[in-house]
Amino acid sequence: MRYIRKRHRDPQRAVPVEQCACCGGELYPGNPCWRLAGRTLCEDCVVPWLLRELAPFRGRAGEVEP
Ligand SMILES: [Zn+2]
Repeated sequence: MRYIRKRHRDPQRAVPVEQCACCGGELYPGNPCWRLAGRTLCEDCVVPWLLRELAPFRGRAGEVEP
């Protein structure tokens, strides 16, 4: 998992077509993104977001749910 947050990766003159709803990062044509719950998330944000969403299902190995 990567925790590097790229705010401005703008080496070319590509025009961002969308923005990440989480970090505000610019999404350029062809960049992977995930559309969830009406929001667009970039690659760096989708995993933490998913983990938060799945928090109710989180357990710990060796522990049994009551
Ligand atoms: Zn993001």
